[in-house]
Amino acid sequence: MPKVSSQQEQDTLKRVEDQINILSGILEQGRKQLRFPGRLESRYIAMRNQRFLEIDQKMLMGGLLFYLAFSWTDFYLGGDNGLLIFTARLILTVIAFALVLWVPRSRFSVKMVPIAASGVFFAGLSVIVFIGLIPGELKYAYHLGLIPIQIFTMVALRLSYRSVLVVSVSLLACYLLSLLVMDTQVESVQLNQVISIFVPMFIMFWVLLIAMGGYMAFMMESAFRSDFMKNQLLALEAERLKYLSARLHVLSTTDSLTGIANRRYLEQSIASEWRRGKRGEAPLSLAMIDIDRFKDYNDFYGHQQGDDCLRTISALMASFCKRPGDVCARYGGEEFVLLFPDTSNADALYLCERLRQAVEAQAVAHERNDSGVVTISIGVASLVPDDDNSSDDLLRAADRHLYEAKDKGRNQVCG
Ligand code: GH3
Ligand code: MG
Ligand code: MG
Repeated sequence: MPKVSSQQEQDTLKRVEDQINILSGILEQGRKQLRFPGRLESRYIAMRNQRFLEIDQKMLMGGLLFYLAFSWTDFYLGGDNGLLIFTARLILTVIAFALVLWVPRSRFSVKMVPIAASGVFFAGLSVIVFIGLIPGELKYAYHLGLIPIQIFTMVALRLSYRSVLVVSVSLLACYLLSLLVMDTQVESVQLNQVISIFVPMFIMFWVLLIAMGGYMAFMMESAFRSDFMKNQLLALEAERLKYLSARLHVLSTTDSLTGIANRRYLEQSIASEWRRGKRGEAPLSLAMIDIDRFKDYNDFYGHQQGDDCLRTISALMASFCKRPGDVCARYGGEEFVLLFPDTSNADALYLCERLRQAVEAQAVAHERNDSGVVTISIGVASLVPDDDNSSDDLLRAADRHLYEAKDKGRNQVCG
């Protein structure tokens, strides 16, 4: 039987359409979005984390290896503190590596990007601390180490504009603070002059880099968010289409007055059950049903009450279609068809007789009918589908038996 669209399906469709309206509204505003409303934001974060995991996890590991590779300079420049700096670098690398591998599998995976951002910050901070541990003017070589870390921040955290800014600005602030607390002077007067120019220039470069990196990350994140929204919209539209086409299917196969299957659905069912019966060599039974003296019913009670009567009788008939392949359809006017796949003629006759009795027992008043209540006449036919007959033969035979039932005085089953 055609599936009537449930309240739940209609609610889902409504929810999908509401979401489409919200998303289309946001897209139409054309503003660059850096935060979505409600659950959309958490879905976006989940998607971004997935993306981060696919690409940036490897990048973080590569970055860490480079960070460790620079340990040769620790021994070369670190003097007495060389081993200490190397040990600190090694411990940091091992901890960060473990985190890169563990966090995505843990319950902290939703915080993957902020944790990665903290890791990058600590790597930068370590370089600032190392600067303080290197003796003499050689420490200035380590200042350069902050630039690749700044660039790495911009590239690895590019999908999170806020992370890029927070890490970059915090690192710069720590660096400035370190300049205040650390002794920047060296022995050579000439070198001190160079440093007094070099350091402000270095800071200016850095600020410029942060401005450019921040802008790039902002553009990247808003483009990424807009793509995400368009994809969400496409998925929602697809879902909406699915529901609409299901509803259309229901509408095109249901009779609007009685809510049971219509003739189109019946014809499709007969065709498919015919093929199935042919394969399984199983009998297919069909009952043609006509309400007795229905014209008189309409004339006496009015068309409106005639419609109510059709609804009552069809609901009763539908209750006799219990098996999955059974179909109860309105064939036209006040004529109905019941289709019983894999059912013998005797079984179909028995079922139809019970239906006839049930309609009579329903006792819908019909003054102009012989028995005083609404009754039906039924013609039953059964065939085992094969190459020598067709479903039209089945319909014709049932129709013939219906006329026979009418001729014999109505309110009976023939077959
Ligand atoms: P019989 O016992 O020989 O079947 O007599 P009958 O009056 O039922 O036969 P007939 O086929 O001549 O009449 C069918 C009537 O069904 C005619 C029409 O007014 C009525 N009818 C058909 N469709 C509808 C409908 O949708 N609503 C209502 N109320 N009546 C309908
Ligand atoms: Mg009729
Ligand atoms: Mg009739």
